[in-house]
Amino acid sequence: MGCKKLYLEHMDVLACTAAVTACTPRRDGGFDVETDRTPLFPEGGGQRSDVGTMDGARILHCREENGTVLHTVEKPFAPGSTVRIEADGAVRRLHTQQHTGEHLLSFAYRKLFGAENIGFHMSETLVTIDLDRMLTEDEIAAGEAYANELVWSDRAVRIFTVDASALDGLPLRKKNETLTGDVRIVEIEGGEMCTCCGTHFTHTAPVGLIKVLEHARCKQGCRVTFVCGALALRHFAQENRELRRTAARLSAKPDAVFDAVCRKEAQLSALQAALRQQNAQLAALYAEKLAAESTACAGFRLIAAVLPAGAEVCRAAAERLCRADDVFVVLLSAEDGGFGYVCMAGANCPLDCRTAAKKLREAFGARGGGSEKAAQGRLSYAGEPSALLREIREVMADGGRQN
Ligand SMILES: [Zn+2]
Repeated sequence: MGCKKLYLEHMDVLACTAAVTACTPRRDGGFDVETDRTPLFPEGGGQRSDVGTMDGARILHCREENGTVLHTVEKPFAPGSTVRIEADGAVRRLHTQQHTGEHLLSFAYRKLFGAENIGFHMSETLVTIDLDRMLTEDEIAAGEAYANELVWSDRAVRIFTVDASALDGLPLRKKNETLTGDVRIVEIEGGEMCTCCGTHFTHTAPVGLIKVLEHARCKQGCRVTFVCGALALRHFAQENRELRRTAARLSAKPDAVFDAVCRKEAQLSALQAALRQQNAQLAALYAEKLAAESTACAGFRLIAAVLPAGAEVCRAAAERLCRADDVFVVLLSAEDGGFGYVCMAGANCPLDCRTAAKKLREAFGARGGGSEKAAQGRLSYAGEPSALLREIREVMADGGRQN
């Protein structure tokens, strides 16, 4: 059974009384309700679905199937009953702003630069058109300015219907040979004429503003992302809020945020370089002190210590200590209730780091591992660091021999 689509002829009609013709339960718990007429636009042609209410129950989505419109509603309605359908006017206006804006922007890029629109998509927050050729930043900006002039000069939008056989005589943007019967034509004064089933204003001014956000290469051409009207305002408000709080945090003006971030980056790089240098000096001092504190083991000297420093310093100190051929080094640093460890072996040390990591795993449940000459990981130990070091010395003392 067909459904009369009121939005096709009467843009301003946002409510009507309708007869329910069918109602089918959906898997998600809602219902697909068909009616003999509707003011709601069903998703299609790139435009998002209207939302609204049916006797107060929410209509979450509409889609077109076999010439009829299916309203996804939260509750069922008996076929034969009469219902009141109301479209959400703010949502309709927002979608119409994007749709009419899309017509104007596409027209601008075609007229100025010969770029054809080959795709259109509207999400909840952004709109995109795909053009068949790449445009420069300047061309994108020029098209945006041209389209906005069409908005602000409040051009008339004419919608009419012709028989498909008469299409050849019209200066249409896209020719579609598969159309039959009545075809809806949208013509914008000073703009273009094309076949279209979407919702439009009678004039262009309510579009308000068309703002391109970015464009990027897409296949052979480019994808232009933009927002219009209420969506542009929402987008601006959100980005402005983000920019202002970022600027406040950087103690910069909103239009000088980029330079402020660059200065912070330079400061950070300088601090990191200074920290690396100080860590290297610290590691050298620890290595010098620890070199004199080794314990004699079976064929090597063991150096084990807990350092009040991070993993980077422990690694650098261990590397320095391992310049001596006969040492095995275990350095620990306290971290998050446990210890990080670094093991390193000198060139001729009989104890290798894989074996040492295994010993730590067996004795303390340590995690981690590495190569023959270096290993690292972490372990948990509830006792005093001095007791931990004593145990580690005992565990490592028997060298390469396995338990
Ligand atoms: Zn349209």
